[in-house]
Amino acid sequence: MALMITDECINCDVCEPECPNDAISMGESIYEIDPHKCTECVGHFDEPQCVQICPVACIPVNPQHVETRETLWQKFDRLTGSRADAGAATSLPSQG
Ligand code: SF4
Ligand code: SF4
Repeated sequence: MALMITDECINCDVCEPECPNDAISMGESIYEIDPHKCTECVGHFDEPQCVQICPVACIPVNPQHVETRETLWQKFDRLTGSRADAGAATSLPSQG
């Protein structure tokens, strides 16, 4: 699933540099997540980094972009070129 930033965002700027996919950028008034780049941090980290760091917890799942874990891995592959080439990537976890 891609995540999204709600209007509770206080523009604190801390999430943008944490995103390994450069999916976060400043929008018209608050930060936004590009759903085509957000892998929910799959391929990079165990937990979504923006969610971990956001002080106001305003980053829920984007209901317009519900994706399976396998789809997120495919997105990661697309973004990085190859799963094997990504140094930070870990092997596919077992079911779950
Ligand atoms: S979940 Fe990860 S990939 Fe998605 S926007 Fe947050 S930091 Fe970026
Ligand atoms: S960390 Fe949360 S409050 Fe801060 S800019 Fe990102 S989404 Fe907005």
